[in-house]
Amino acid sequence: MASARNLCQHSDTDGTQCTSNDYILCPHCQLQLCLKHLNSHQDLLRSDLYHLCDDIDHLRMNLDNLVFDSSNQREYLFKQLDQWYDQWINSLTKIYLEKKQEIEILYLKSHMEFDVYKDKKDKELKDNLIKQLNKVLKQKQIHIEDLNNMKNKLDYIQRGLDELKQLNIDIQFNNTNFDINIIKKRYIEAAKVR
Ligand SMILES: [Zn+2]
Ligand SMILES: [Zn+2]
Repeated sequence: MASARNLCQHSDTDGTQCTSNDYILCPHCQLQLCLKHLNSHQDLLRSDLYHLCDDIDHLRMNLDNLVFDSSNQREYLFKQLDQWYDQWINSLTKIYLEKKQEIEILYLKSHMEFDVYKDKKDKELKDNLIKQLNKVLKQKQIHIEDLNNMKNKLDYIQRGLDELKQLNIDIQFNNTNFDINIIKKRYIEAAKVR
């Protein structure tokens, strides 16, 4: 039945309804409340406000204490960079030492070849060309064929000698992938058998 006497709309957590008649609209919950419960709702709001104060204080302290790079990330980055650097240095040192050894071995081989071919040129000169020259020098007539033949021999020995003067080990660098090629050529002209 409709009546001007409304009951307070507050109910306790256990569901018990307030039986008081006095009422006013609570702006916090939009319920019609008696004065006692209006005050108790005001206490709830005040308690919420205190919690909010605590939260704000907490946030302000955290902000005040915040410093740049608190976890020292720079040291972590340096450490990673150092590891990268060490790895590359180690690989490069390894390649460097290997290539040095390779040059050493090729140099020994080349030296042996040089000695063999120089000896060959020496024999061609002394045992062949100079012998022939001495023979021709003793002849009364100089034949054009002898002269041309000796000129050819001289040219041939000269070519071998020129080749022996050249460095026959070459080094090539590929800077994009640290690849290094060491190439040893053979003495071709010097090695030819006549
Ligand atoms: Zn309320
Ligand atoms: Zn009440």
